[in-house]
Amino acid sequence: MPKFSKNSLEKLNHPRVHPKLKKLMLEAIKETPIDFTIIESVRCYEKQKMYMQKGVTKTMRSKHIPKSNKSGLCEAIDIAPYPINWGDIERFKKLSCHIKETAKNLSINIVWGGDWGWDYPHYELKGG
Ligand SMILES: [Zn+2]
Repeated sequence: MPKFSKNSLEKLNHPRVHPKLKKLMLEAIKETPIDFTIIESVRCYEKQKMYMQKGVTKTMRSKHIPKSNKSGLCEAIDIAPYPINWGDIERFKKLSCHIKETAKNLSINIVWGGDWGWDYPHYELKGG
């Protein structure tokens, strides 16, 4: 059974990560057809600014930033199939099917960044 690395768990267990996201990821890893790793959860404003300058992101109102959200918590998480191959979009798509299905089973509404046509590692809570 796949399980998270220490590194992934540290990102997931950050006190500012929304409990729904945490629950979803802990459930999803259990029976995932594709092993995956947590890339990033909570993000600070300064880092977002850096990403903006690099063109990695298109918004300063990221759900990764706790202060951007009403809940005051991080409502977005970036994950990638492991071992990581950023060019293998098909694997990201397959993983998204599993994450979406798991979310549905838990009645957690999420949005996958891949459905925007570019942000394949990104998942965020809908509304919130
Ligand atoms: Zn993201």
